[in-house]
Amino acid sequence: MGPAERARLLQTFDDGWVSSAGPVVEAFERAFAEATGFGHATALSSGTAALQVALTMLDLKPGDAVICPTLTFIGGVSPVVHAGARPIFVDCSAADWNLDPALLEQAFDRAKVQGLTVRAICPADLYGQCCDIDAIRAVADAHGVPVILDSAEAVGATLNGRHAGHGAQAAAFSFNGNKIITTGGGGMLASDDAALIARARNLAAAARLPAIHYEHAEVGFNYRMLSLAAALGLAQLETLEARVARRRAIFDRYVARLGDRPGLAFAPEAPGRRHTRWLSVMVMDPEITGAGPDHLRLALDAANIEARPVWKPMHLQPVFRDALVVNDGVAEALFANGLCLPSGSSLTDADIDRVCDVIETTLDA
Ligand SMILES: *Cc1c(COP(=O)(O)O)cnc(C)c1O
Repeated sequence: MGPAERARLLQTFDDGWVSSAGPVVEAFERAFAEATGFGHATALSSGTAALQVALTMLDLKPGDAVICPTLTFIGGVSPVVHAGARPIFVDCSAADWNLDPALLEQAFDRAKVQGLTVRAICPADLYGQCCDIDAIRAVADAHGVPVILDSAEAVGATLNGRHAGHGAQAAAFSFNGNKIITTGGGGMLASDDAALIARARNLAAAARLPAIHYEHAEVGFNYRMLSLAAALGLAQLETLEARVARRRAIFDRYVARLGDRPGLAFAPEAPGRRHTRWLSVMVMDPEITGAGPDHLRLALDAANIEARPVWKPMHLQPVFRDALVVNDGVAEALFANGLCLPSGSSLTDADIDRVCDVIETTLDA
């Protein structure tokens, strides 16, 4: 947070706009839509809320299923459950770590055998890289189901020059505190479909019909973004390009220092993508490096440096132990051997060098 965020926040406060009412949320929605090239966007209290509202509009019923990547954060999956469907998990591709389009037909087959109806595909743009949306959309179109894209981690990412989220019927973004830009907590649902966004905006505001008394034809949510959060978002959005550039530079510095070491590899950037490097992720081959990611993580922790495992695949989570999964072993291998390194936009080159020093010393020991 910088002086621009502080100024916007205090101006909004002084103008009396603390709730969701007023012009600030609308201004943030317009600015976000313009920055990302979407026709329409509605701001919500979180990325999870954005996905839940989008999935609620599909009117899911018992016996319905939604295809999700297994390698992701649970915020991309819990809305499927809350909206009344069962997730079916699909492994990721080694090319971009996102839902592997080549495995999608198997997921439809598995659903059919179980008597489930697939109603949507909900892929994610993991760690700041767009999924192969065109290939996913081709399968979705062939089956007549929409794609709701979890682009929570991909604000600022592009595919063939278009911002993350395009190519899906709707895309959700997150401004949680750990994301590349933040509103403290918040999210956005974006689409080129004006009616879809208008309905989402209404559902997120208690589904009130336009009447002076309170009139409701369906139940909604209270998921609107606060003006104070939107004020932060307006200022943060202006720093997005600089943050992407810095995160990419941090990643490049890790690769320059460590990329030639045997047994170490870094997350791929697939053709046509601009990876934001929201997180810099390394993969180890413990057969070659000796020490594995957990040993290295503890060594970094002892030096007061936080590193974390790659997302634990959803099909390995106790809560989803009975879920269907199309598993090729790619996500499991990334979970076993991956390590997310410090990646914050405010890290200095000296910080990165200190991380690399600890990694080198640990692996040489
Ligand atoms: C952060 C995140 C979400 C949820 O966003 P919130 O704003 O935290 O609710 C969903 N999916 C993925 C992949 C995320 O990283």
